[in-house]
Amino acid sequence: MNRHDRLDTLAFVSCPFCAMVCDDLSLPVHNEALTAQQIPCEKARTGFTSAFQATRETPLIHGKEATWKQALQQAGKMLREARLPLFHGLIGDLLDSKAAVKMADHFGGAIDHLHGDAIARNLQIYQQGGWQVSSMGEVRNRADLVVLIGHDPQETYPRLHEKLLDSTERLHADSPPIIHPLNHDCLDLLSITRARLAGKPVQADTAGSDELLTQITGANYPVFIIGRLPGKNAELIIRTCVGLVRDINETRRSALLMLGAGEGDMTAQLSAAWHNGFGIRTCHAKGYPEQDLQRYAGNRLMQSGETDLLVWISSLSCAPPPDVAQNTIVIGHPAMSFTQSEPTIFLPVGVPGIHRSGYLHRADGLRLVPLKRLIDNPLPGSATLCEQLISQEPRTC
Ligand code: SF4
Repeated sequence: MNRHDRLDTLAFVSCPFCAMVCDDLSLPVHNEALTAQQIPCEKARTGFTSAFQATRETPLIHGKEATWKQALQQAGKMLREARLPLFHGLIGDLLDSKAAVKMADHFGGAIDHLHGDAIARNLQIYQQGGWQVSSMGEVRNRADLVVLIGHDPQETYPRLHEKLLDSTERLHADSPPIIHPLNHDCLDLLSITRARLAGKPVQADTAGSDELLTQITGANYPVFIIGRLPGKNAELIIRTCVGLVRDINETRRSALLMLGAGEGDMTAQLSAAWHNGFGIRTCHAKGYPEQDLQRYAGNRLMQSGETDLLVWISSLSCAPPPDVAQNTIVIGHPAMSFTQSEPTIFLPVGVPGIHRSGYLHRADGLRLVPLKRLIDNPLPGSATLCEQLISQEPRTC
């Protein structure tokens, strides 16, 4: 750095790139330009750097540059003519989800999220029997045993240990909790442990149940943290944990903490529930919102051909949409590139928390974290595009 260089720091920046939505980042401002190189989380570094470096400012029609007027007119025409538009992805913040619900209502479409299968599975479990859940703050301050279940939590929530599990600054405990990690292949272990805890006979034991049982029996507040759970046993694993927590609560305190997969999943569900009364997998084709967790699954609607237009909304991720037979409008991250087929229309939008302000629900759903606009950028947000598409022409029924 020479003597003319200026170095400042932008403090308390919130990060939208995983379900933890950390709000304690500091970004150095070097000669009035923000850099992400010193962020101590690789996932955040990648997300911020990609948004800082994104340069696309104009839409594409079939991969060719077009004016905003041309692209919006064509997108509006496609939406008005669609039989059942599907507003999917929703990898964004509250304003993106709100725009999706508003467009689904106006154009008579359905909404789903990239992780709709997991959201729908959890909703069904909750609706059928309820569950006892905790918050991130409560786990950090009170839990003395954490059974950490899921596929590669370090990759999905890079600062989970630092912020929640390994912290020594705890309000109601002197030392961090015991951590018992389990991967997604843990159904037998959990089922046997639950049976043994209840004093039921088990036909065959499995390695590890002695240790887990001893830890659960000796804990005052065991918490089962459930992260990303791929595979066919995911539902049974969650149901077993729900049952374990219920059993333990007969005599002590215990809870679940469902972290989800991030990518705006909690925000999409809560925001949609607030605006349409149900959440994702709700369809407005009949003129009123109707939820069906199986029928309005995005993948099913695309594969069956029931939807004839995919509107993929992804302001937080550069990953392209699924390659489908339907015409596609992408309202997406300005650094998104298309390796397979180009969408019919690509409308680049600002990234929440970098190019525009916004809001994102933290994984436990208890805190709505405000996101700051960090740099100037001419790109619109999904909400602006939504208004422009809706206001082109009233829908004819
Ligand atoms: S843990 Fe997640 S929210 Fe926190 S800084 Fe890393 S990517 Fe961002």
